[in-house]
Amino acid sequence: MPPRVRFAPSPTGYLHVGGARTALFNWLYAKRHGGIFVLRIEDTDIERSSTDMVTGILTSLTWLGLTWDEGPGVGGPHAPYFQTERLDKYRAAADALVASGHAYYCYCKPDDLKAKREAAEAAGSAWSYDRTCTRLSTEEIASRETAGHPRAVRFFVPEGVTTFTDLVRGRIEFARQNIDDFVILRSDGVPTYHLSVVVDDVEMEITQVVRGDDHISNTPKQVLLYEALDAPVPEFAHVPLILGPDKKRLSKRHGATAVGEYETRGYLPEAMINFLALLGWSPGGNQEVFSREELIERFTLDGISGGNAVFNPDKLDWFNQQHIVRLANDDLLHRIQTDLRLAGLWRDTLLNAEFAWASRVLDLLKPRARKLADLTAPLRTFLADEVVFDEAAVAKHLAGPEVRDHLHAWAEVVSGLPSLEPVATEAALRALAEARGIKPGVLIHGTRVAVTGQAVSPGIFDVLELVGKDRVVQRLRAASTI
Ligand code: GLU
Repeated sequence: MPPRVRFAPSPTGYLHVGGARTALFNWLYAKRHGGIFVLRIEDTDIERSSTDMVTGILTSLTWLGLTWDEGPGVGGPHAPYFQTERLDKYRAAADALVASGHAYYCYCKPDDLKAKREAAEAAGSAWSYDRTCTRLSTEEIASRETAGHPRAVRFFVPEGVTTFTDLVRGRIEFARQNIDDFVILRSDGVPTYHLSVVVDDVEMEITQVVRGDDHISNTPKQVLLYEALDAPVPEFAHVPLILGPDKKRLSKRHGATAVGEYETRGYLPEAMINFLALLGWSPGGNQEVFSREELIERFTLDGISGGNAVFNPDKLDWFNQQHIVRLANDDLLHRIQTDLRLAGLWRDTLLNAEFAWASRVLDLLKPRARKLADLTAPLRTFLADEVVFDEAAVAKHLAGPEVRDHLHAWAEVVSGLPSLEPVATEAALRALAEARGIKPGVLIHGTRVAVTGQAVSPGIFDVLELVGKDRVVQRLRAASTI
């Protein structure tokens, strides 16, 4: 049977990098084994959930390419995939658990429970529900029902030990005496997380639950529910938390935590996926840069390590750079099209008549770009007629009548060259420098500032060839008269 896994976000915030990593591991596992990746929205916390957040989560997952086989928008055999549309199922399960003796109605008032808890705390003892409502007589129950007392449903936690095998942590034992008779359905008919998650995972035939380590203490309760519902217990894999570089739990303090922010900052989804995959999972070996297909091919749950994963923004930048270099240039042009339009640099011919040239320009610039947006400014040299000058660069390399005179002479040499093939151009520049008794650097730096406006650029002779002779000559002449 191919696996069925799920990502089950609560739409109480944006898609966080930790959630994205959980989604990714589930997705990779499903893809690796020809399984099904289910997306389920756990929106029972009505006050904290919103449709904007749902939209945000779906948008970020789609941007990452983590498309779901069943879930919002696509439907599936277990629809609906929003928990608020499945409340009748949880209520039916709670009733069934009461009928089978695994759960009971609790009429205790919140204020009474609070008072008991506070008294226990004041006496220094740990509080757990005292099972008052398991001792009610039939008459007492009937009178409460007649009077319309609100009732919650509590799970009756039997004595003993609950064990489960976690694919990351190994065998885990949990003494049930430490588990309270937890509420599974509140008096307003809304299920608690434990009930809804188990009912859905059972109904949606989930075979592996891959989720954050913060849920590990919930698992014993959920295992009890599976057993009480007479349902097969899935395998569990609890993924270590993501920490910031200071080894504290990753938070806004460390920078952007919402996936959407990385999209707007010019990160490639390919880089994000690669980076997130290696947070807590290791394919073995030294390879670090992986395509999506390679990740699918290599992914195993037992490659997830128990140690916490550290989110290193510099490493993410490095992955981004690596993936920018690997992008096909037509694809890259499509991705920077909006940035270029905003900068007034776009023209459609870049994708067709000018594509061969544009592609060479991008090959030259790509290795220096850490973000997509880093390409816009250097592309100006090639795509705009006006040069935007950096004042400091001008002051350093173009000031003084001598430099201008040298550049003027150099403009004339360039205009007489048959082409700007880099090796020949460099030889011509060095010959002129020698003839004028100056260091070649004077001409090289001056040319760079004259043509690009900046003090740094990729190899200047490659730049000159791609800017083209006419424009180089024109810019050298213009600079010699600044
Ligand atoms: N809705 C839960 C959360 O966002 C996930 C539950 C689970 O994966 O079991 O934390």
